[in-house]
Amino acid sequence: QVYKGKPDKIINSSCPFCGVGCLTEIHVKDNKIMQVKGRNGPANQNRLCVKGRFGMDYATHEGRLTKPLIRKEGVEKRWDDEVDPNNPFTHFREATWEEALEKTAEGFKKALAEKGPKGLSGFGSAKGSNEEAYLFQKLVRAGFGTNNVDHCTRLCHASSVAALIEGISSGAVSAPFRAAEESDCIIMIGCRPNWNHPVAASYFKQAAKRGAKLIIMDPRGQNMARHAWKHLQFKPGADVPMLNAMIHTIIEEGLTDEQFIQARVDDYEELKAKVKEFSPEKMADACGIDAQTLREVARAYAKADKSIIFWGMGVSQHVHGTDNARCLIALSLITGQVGRTGTGLHPLRGQNNVQGASDVGLIPMFYPDYKSVENPEIHAKYEEFWGAKLDNKRGLTVVEIMNAIIADEIQAMYIMGENPAMSDPDVHHARSALAKLDHLVVQDIFMTETAFHADVVLPASAFQEKWGTFSNTDRKVQMVRPALDMPGDARQDWWIIQEIAKRIGLDWSYSHPKDVFGEMTQVMDSIKGMTWERVDREDSITYPCTSPEDPGQPYVFIDDFPTPTGRARLVPTDLVPPAETPDAEYPMVLTTGRLLEHWHTGSMTRRSAVLDSIEPEAVAHLHPKYLAELGIQPGEFVDVHTRRGSIHVKARADRDVSEGMVFIPFCFAEGPANMLTNPQLDPFGKIPEFKYCAAKVEKSPKQ
Ligand code: SF4
Repeated sequence: QVYKGKPDKIINSSCPFCGVGCLTEIHVKDNKIMQVKGRNGPANQNRLCVKGRFGMDYATHEGRLTKPLIRKEGVEKRWDDEVDPNNPFTHFREATWEEALEKTAEGFKKALAEKGPKGLSGFGSAKGSNEEAYLFQKLVRAGFGTNNVDHCTRLCHASSVAALIEGISSGAVSAPFRAAEESDCIIMIGCRPNWNHPVAASYFKQAAKRGAKLIIMDPRGQNMARHAWKHLQFKPGADVPMLNAMIHTIIEEGLTDEQFIQARVDDYEELKAKVKEFSPEKMADACGIDAQTLREVARAYAKADKSIIFWGMGVSQHVHGTDNARCLIALSLITGQVGRTGTGLHPLRGQNNVQGASDVGLIPMFYPDYKSVENPEIHAKYEEFWGAKLDNKRGLTVVEIMNAIIADEIQAMYIMGENPAMSDPDVHHARSALAKLDHLVVQDIFMTETAFHADVVLPASAFQEKWGTFSNTDRKVQMVRPALDMPGDARQDWWIIQEIAKRIGLDWSYSHPKDVFGEMTQVMDSIKGMTWERVDREDSITYPCTSPEDPGQPYVFIDDFPTPTGRARLVPTDLVPPAETPDAEYPMVLTTGRLLEHWHTGSMTRRSAVLDSIEPEAVAHLHPKYLAELGIQPGEFVDVHTRRGSIHVKARADRDVSEGMVFIPFCFAEGPANMLTNPQLDPFGKIPEFKYCAAKVEKSPKQ
């Protein structure tokens, strides 16, 4: 639809997609979005990518949920190709809010009576605001009495956060991504910002143009490589041998920053002893990069005045994801490349509020600000502050919760804005778990694949319809304002959480998200210098922000680390192979990820007219030579099999994928990549190995 004339209103907001956090202007006419423009935000300086500019129309898609729904008696809980995603009435009937909320609360109370607090769980969302995430985890902890609360951070950077907290006691970035503007050497490893963080990518390209050495490390090719000084297309899963070879070189050639190590780093001798066995000459075969290149990039990183590392899920989504991140932390610590402008460690966050949702405690081991649920003092403080009996043991994570449902340990679940029936590894297992629940409540804006397994579906508010703060990958807390009216009987998420809380016995009386933000500032030192009014006035404030006068601190760890001693800790790593490697039956490596146009499980971007018309169908990316070997033309159907299942998708020729590899985006419900992925977990971050499993590809008999 083309809109002409003047908008009825122009609302200052942000972008609902990636963690870059571009600030936007939403132009609205007749409660529809006419256009979206970039604003001069600190992260985007008027820039937007195709998702931010053209992808917001999902909010007014005809498939929006407008009434609470209750499952019809006797209808099977399932989602498959035969279910019509736009017709919930095969499975559900409409209900009033009162009936739906009563049924919601009854199911939770029944589970509490039958199984106790550990029989309940909740998945909140990295797409919701900080205030919604805070309320959600508070409801699960204070209302259900359990720490079984998590969200999709478990599937993206949990291992990065585990390594960062272990090494430097902070899971957030040490520097904003625009630090690259001042860097002399930039490592981008396991990330593809041109697709997943496009506005950030524009700054990295500018830095390369200015003369910074851009080093890309990625088993797949990518078009950012055109701007790179070096592109290391290493073997999938071989991060540790490659990175340890760089650490070996830096130590062997005397390129360490001894003063920094002496003053600020522990356990250097242990690291030094471990990496002796990882010389570049020995590791070249293991990682597929020649020794000379390994030495050159190590020297460039260590010798540059200012070096910075950006990483993505290519690093984190492995059974050795925490080890991969430990290596990156070690690289920066032994060279003193942290705590100064142009230097740092930056795990690029995928979703627009994955940073904030973790910060406010939407994870099973921490209260807000990463305070351990197992620390008796902190636990007592929260029992008093929230006036409730709380669990003092860490809860289960995303995949562990699914396993506990299958094991009959969990019988009720509350899911807000997440889609595990598409995003979990081995989704057949996840869907079986969802179907097995005695009571599942899903709060969302669309009938997602997960919602089809629910007993009660609650119609929620879209990003463009709400007030709230969102924290971007740089730790910038930014204000989002309502531009559209909610459709039908949809309600604000914070209101729905509160109504459920009241019905299970909590005495809550928030009247606006700003009340929730005010409560958050009482317990979170990181944002105690902020008020709702200040964030609204300034639009974007970086935490830590410790007083009303504090402008916010884009760089941290300048003088010390937030550990008890102020010193960082090095953790040596060993070789851990992928959980499943290719063999005669499954000879290829499957890896998964996102596309430029589609974001996560596609529940939003596949309902955006422009984005879905650019990338409308499920595809498997394969090298043209391999397609030729199989006798497959691009556009023909292939069947991709792993030990978990099979999917039927079109083949796409892609020279960025090496010959033994197949890449499948995980956003397509009709060819769900996660039907195939391996649920094996990294033992520290509990993140599944989405980036590597053994697979087989065949020309499909069904064309
Ligand atoms: Fe939105 Fe990220 Fe694109 Fe910016 S770069 S417009 S935040 S998707």
